[in-house]
Amino acid sequence: MSCLFCRIGRGEIPATIVLDEPELLAFRDINPVAPTHILIIPKRHIASLAEITAAESGIIGKMFLTARELAAREGVLGNGFRTVFNTGPDAGQTVFHLHLHLLAGRPMTWPPG
Ligand code: AMP
Ligand code: ZN
Repeated sequence: MSCLFCRIGRGEIPATIVLDEPELLAFRDINPVAPTHILIIPKRHIASLAEITAAESGIIGKMFLTARELAAREGVLGNGFRTVFNTGPDAGQTVFHLHLHLLAGRPMTWPPG
């Protein structure tokens, strides 16, 4: 499988790993758009949120708990953070392996662009 994030998960492509668990990996985004920009991925390939079923509810919950844990570790729980799943072309998804963006460290605007 040539999926970029599967390859990062297997250690074939280097990344700045911040958390490595049996089911999940978190690493810093190569093109950060905020002082904290971490991607949280399941190691198992899932293309996007459009593909999930009830069978994935556990892993999705763990991804959000991981976001909270990493936000605490980054010291941003107080000021806040944003968690984003981009899904499909209208949302600007570019890597089709499920990933949760954890963004923090600066004030953000709403609505997103
Ligand atoms: P999305 O647009 O939601 O699909 O987000 C994909 C993210 O992956 C972007 O923010 C990219 O900067 C990031 N990205 C692409 N390649 C890498 C890589 N090799 N290591 C870390 N992050 C990456
Ligand atoms: Zn993949």
